[in-house]
This record gives sequence, structure tokens and C-alpha cells, in this order.
Amino acid sequence: MLDSILSLVHETVHTDNIDDALNKIVNWLKSNIDVDACSIYLKHRNSQQLILMATAGLNPEAIGHVKYNPGEGLVGMVAERCGKVVLYEASSHPEYIHFPITGEESFDSFLGLPLMHYRQMLGVIAVHNRAHREFTDKDIAILITVTTQLSSAIYASLRSSSKEVSIQKDDLSTSVYTAVSGARGLVSGVMVQPDINADLNSVEEKVTSDTDTQEVIFMLAVTEVQKEIRISSENMREYIPAEVQALFEVYSLLLADDSLLSGVLERIQSGLFASTALRYTIDDLVAHFNTLRNQYISARAEDIRAIGSMILNRLNSGSGSPIDYPDNCILIGDEINLTQIANVPRNSLKGIICRKGSTMSHAAIVAHSLGIPAVMGVQDLPLENMNGRTAIVDGYIGRILVDPSDEVHKEFQRLIKEEELLFTELENLRDLPAETLDGKSIKLNTNIGVLSEIESTRDVGADGVGLYRTEFSFMLSESFPSEIKQYEKYRKVLKAYAPQPVVMRLLDIGGDKSLPYFLIEEENSFLGWRGIRILLDHPEILITQLRAMLRANINLGNLKLLLPMVSHINEINSFRKYFDLVINELIEEGHDIVVPKLGIMIEVPAAAIQLKAMAKLVDFMSIGTNDLTQYLLAVDRNNAHVASLYDFLHPAVLKLIQKVVQDAREVDMQISVCGEMAGDPRTVIPLLGMGLDSFSMAGASIPGVKWIIRNFTYERTVEILEEILEMNEVEEIKDYLNQILEEKGLGGLIRAGN
Ligand code: PEP
Ligand code: MG
Repeated sequence: MLDSILSLVHETVHTDNIDDALNKIVNWLKSNIDVDACSIYLKHRNSQQLILMATAGLNPEAIGHVKYNPGEGLVGMVAERCGKVVLYEASSHPEYIHFPITGEESFDSFLGLPLMHYRQMLGVIAVHNRAHREFTDKDIAILITVTTQLSSAIYASLRSSSKEVSIQKDDLSTSVYTAVSGARGLVSGVMVQPDINADLNSVEEKVTSDTDTQEVIFMLAVTEVQKEIRISSENMREYIPAEVQALFEVYSLLLADDSLLSGVLERIQSGLFASTALRYTIDDLVAHFNTLRNQYISARAEDIRAIGSMILNRLNSGSGSPIDYPDNCILIGDEINLTQIANVPRNSLKGIICRKGSTMSHAAIVAHSLGIPAVMGVQDLPLENMNGRTAIVDGYIGRILVDPSDEVHKEFQRLIKEEELLFTELENLRDLPAETLDGKSIKLNTNIGVLSEIESTRDVGADGVGLYRTEFSFMLSESFPSEIKQYEKYRKVLKAYAPQPVVMRLLDIGGDKSLPYFLIEEENSFLGWRGIRILLDHPEILITQLRAMLRANINLGNLKLLLPMVSHINEINSFRKYFDLVINELIEEGHDIVVPKLGIMIEVPAAAIQLKAMAKLVDFMSIGTNDLTQYLLAVDRNNAHVASLYDFLHPAVLKLIQKVVQDAREVDMQISVCGEMAGDPRTVIPLLGMGLDSFSMAGASIPGVKWIIRNFTYERTVEILEEILEMNEVEEIKDYLNQILEEKGLGGLIRAGN
């Protein structure tokens, strides 16, 4: 039975046509549960009516005509209850409604289950039998297994199918997709899928006897792509940082790599068409990346697919027919690669949407450095029919709105305008101190990752760098950067801010931050080998980085060191051994070393709880609210399906941070916040109330946070904190803080900080 269910699931997931999928399901259930009829009703998005969409056993003409209002009929009962309904003598039930068109006069046994997709009720699946038939546990188990397995497939095909549009043609309302933010900002534009003609998965097997011609065609395509990459790299030179631009070199290297070229050529020689040979080779490289000897290639699955699509595009269209980009272009795709970004005229590219990936994907990093919003991991987005449609990209909360209705569109245009105005207004705060109305002065530092951010963050009047995420430059490099390469980067950053302090965090990889040349394969990477754990296991990496940082600090003295992901006290002790070793080594080499202050991230609940003991070993602490929220709430910060549960305004998060601040104060420990929470104008109010006086955030968030600080007394923030600590629900806390901001005329900040 399980095999049969799995093959039904497999077939349904791989059907493009919703009618086929639904028909397969009802027929399979009718025969496997052995009933007279099985039917699926789907909920209309606006009227909320449950409409018969597929049936095996009822008159097929009833499809589209049998409609239940919410709560009406036996089907409505299932939907309202969001749970199983089993009835006997069902057609005598008071809720029973007879639809003559179904051809069914009466029946005895009824079993209905809701189709649920992440708390959302999509519809109802119901089986019935004319004669009495006891539904066994096994029947119910089969139905539950099938509905739970299939609801997400139904959801996906429902969203992409024209069928849904046709039954809803009376009201094409806005579709909302929630995923994760890749880069902040808000924009509306027209979606363009650049690789629409280059889907490797749709290449069919074709054979040829003229292998020589296919070889020539393939090599020509490779040469064209090489040229394309060179030109794209040149095009982008002006407006993306050199280290991001270095990714183009990665493409060139991959393109020249033997595993790819000889793989394709050998397949062509065996009689395959170039495109077929390309597809099989790319599939192989991606699928078997674990077993490849060349680790560098193996970790580049994303890049290999990008290269594959580029070559296929050339193979398909010869010169690669140019895309006519609208001047408000939003690039969409499974993944978006650098040449696709580079091909859009700079002023026309307004946003990026990817079905795969996370904040750490190349597309997100580039979007961030271009200052355009990106939303990542929109798994449900049906790419097949998105090209040319309008979307609003909300990079603040990782959400997109497709085909926004006039009303929604107008509202967003208003917000976008409001945001522009607000930023102009906020710019005027640049040279004013971050001081509360009752005179408490607050330090506002900035978080940076790539060197290009130095300029923009200094422009917003930051007091220094509260978090330099060194892993970004490691991620953009082709191998572990040498001591000298690292030294040059760190020196640039320290010099740019001196004498203001720069908190440099030691390499924090693992979790969602992977290096192409350092494979980590784990079932559960966020709970695995991350941050300090890797550094202590690989002292060679740690020592090189420490040496580069300490040398970069010579004659400047503004370096502070920060350890990521500390969860055990012995990690700090072990680190100290290497720290002392490196300091002594450098002194022996004749360097004039100033010992920097040492701090730890408080981002694992264990460190938050053991703060006082850890405080004896370090000079300062920084609360990483991104990870602290993830680990405290057990919600993966990059998982779109649980994104709605990830909220740093959760009462437990607020209470833990308050305890951390209190403990730190009791042992006289310097503490600040460097997670996203510090840059949210709403959450900064309770953080101020806790007594925190140092924050670090993205440069763009500084003006809004400064505004808050300058418009509240410290005393008032303490009162607000006390009030919200009495609340038990995130929504209650949010509403209350929103209301406070609205009352101050700061509604715009709610969005900008969201
Ligand atoms: C955090 O976890 O809050 C943090 C600042 O670190 P990162 O986001 O780089 O993990
Ligand atoms: Mg972190």
C-alpha cells in the first residue's frame, strides 16, 4: 500500500495539470478505499465557497456546479471543523444538502477530511458509500496519509494553474507569497524570467550520428558564454564591489573545468545531441557532487547549474535572443546568476525573486550590494506563468505580491513614496547625536560584510563598526584567503574607521553560510558544526585569521575581537590559548602588538544563561538576536514555511534578552545588540527600556533608530517595556508598539524597520 501511495504522490507532484492530478487522486482513493464515490472540493479564494473540482463516482457534470457556502452541508462541516467527519445515515443528517446534478439520491456512509497546507484550509476530500459501510482505522489512515502528502502538491499546482484563474475569473485578486528576506527594500515592477528558454530539466533525449557538428556547436556555445561572462563582469565593474565581482572568475574557472567540458564532449561522442549531453553532464555534476574528487567544483552546484543554463541558452537560440527588459524589471528564477543580473541595464533592475536559496545566496549578496530588494526561497511561486506579470517585492519581510489589485498597488505605491520621503527626512539627522529626550546618549554602530559598505555606513553617521562579518569575504573567495589577503582587507576596514572601534567577528561559517571550498555536510547544519566549533577544530584557519587581524591593527589599535556561536565556557578558554600563542609569536617576530579587547556573541541560549560565568573570561558581549531567536524558538531563520513563527518580539525572546542585560549589568559587563532586532525601530524601544545603550545594525537602519531615540525619553521606554513584558502574544506586543509609533506619526518607520 505504501508503495502505491508513494507512486500516486510521485505522479501527482509531477503533473502540470491540476485536473489530471485531482482526477488521479479521486480515482485512486475510490478504488483503494473501495467506496462508491470520492470527490474533491476546493475553496474559492474570495467567496470561500467549496466547489466540486473532481469526482470519481458522482456525475462529472456536477464539477464546478456543486458549491457549498462556508459551514454549509457535510462538506462545509469538515471545512469548518478543519478535522475529520465520519457520518452514517449521512443523507438524513440535518446539515445534508441534496444537489440533484450529482445524480446521487441518498447515501449512508460519509467520511470527509480537510486538505490542509500549513494551517491553510485548501478544500475538502470526501468519500461516501450508498450502503452502510463501516470506515475502518485503515481507511481513515489511508485518507489522512494521502491528503497530507498531496496537499502541498495540490497547493502548488493550484497556484500555477489556469484552472484556478478560470474558476476565479470574476476576481483575479492579489496572490501573496511569503518567504525570506534576501535584501531589504520595497519595490513594484514587472517580472522577467531570464532563463525561460534554458531550463535544463526540460531538455529531452536526442541522438545524432553527426557528432562532430554537435561538438563544434557545443564549443562555440562555450566560447560565447565565456565572452558573455567577460562582458558582464566589465558591465558590473563600476557598481559592485570587487570581491563580489570576483564571482565571475568562478564562472570562468568552472567553464574551463575538465569535468564539465570533457563530460559533455564524451557524451556527444557517444551519439548524443549537445543539449542532451549538457543536461546529463550537469545533472551528474550536481547530483554526485558528494563523490567528486574536485571539492572546489563539487560545492558549486548553484554555479554549475548557472553555467549549464547559460550554455543551453546559447545552444537553443544561437546568438541568445536579447531580452527586452522593462525599466522596472524584477528578475525571477529558481536561482538568479550574476550574468543574468549583469545583463539588465543597471537602472532597470529593481528587485530579485528566487525560488531557491537564502540570505546567503549570491543573488542576495549582490542585491544587497546594489541596494535593491530580494526575496529568497519562494518555493511555491509557479514560475511557469509569472513572466510579464506585476509583482511587489517586499524585502523587509520577505514577501511578494503577484498581480496586486489596484487597491493594493496604490497602497504600496503610497508606502514606497512614504519610505522615500522618510529617508530624505531622516538624512537630516546624520549629524545630530543619538540621545534620548532626557539626555541618555546611545552608541549606534554599523554591521558590515563587504568592503563597499564602508562608504555608505560612514555616511549615515555610525559611531564605529559593531559587527564586521568576516565570512562574507571568505564566501566570495575561491579558496581560504591567505594571511596577506586577509590582512589587506582588515587593514582597510580598521583604517577607514580609526580611531572608532571596529568589532571583527572571527569566521562564522556553518549553518546557512557555506564556503565553496570547505564542504560541510550535515543533516541539521544549524545545530552542527558552526562558528567557534569549526575554528577550534581547525586551528590553522583560526591562527591565520588572528594573525591577519592583529597585524592589521598595528599602529591603529581600534580592533576588537568577537567570537561567534559560543555555547561552552571551555571554548573561550581554548580560544585564549591560540590567542596568546599568536600574540607571542607576533611579538617574537618583532611586531608592535596591542592586545585587542575580546568579546563573545550571545546567540545561543546556553551562553545567555551562563553569561555571568563567561563574563569572567571576556571584555564585552554582543547579543546576536538573529540566532538567539532561532535557537530559543526552535525556528530555522531561513525556512520560509516557519517564517511566521520566527519573531524576535516573541515574549520569551524579550524576557531572555532582559535577563541577559540585567546579568551583564550586575557583573559590569559591556553589552550591545548586533542582530537585526537592533535595527528595527519598533523593537529598539523595549531594548532601550532594558537599559541597553549600544546597538549595531545595517547602515540603512541607523537613521530610523536614531529618530526613535531622539523622540522618546528613556523613562518612557522603561514604561513601555514593563507593559509589553506583561503581554503573552507576539501580535499583542507588535500592535502595541505599532500604535505607539503611529501616535508619534512614525507609521512609515514600521515598514522600513519591518
Ligand atoms: C546574529 O545571529 O544575530 C548575528 C548578528 O549573526 P549572524 O546574523 O551573522 O548569524
Ligand atoms: Mg549569528
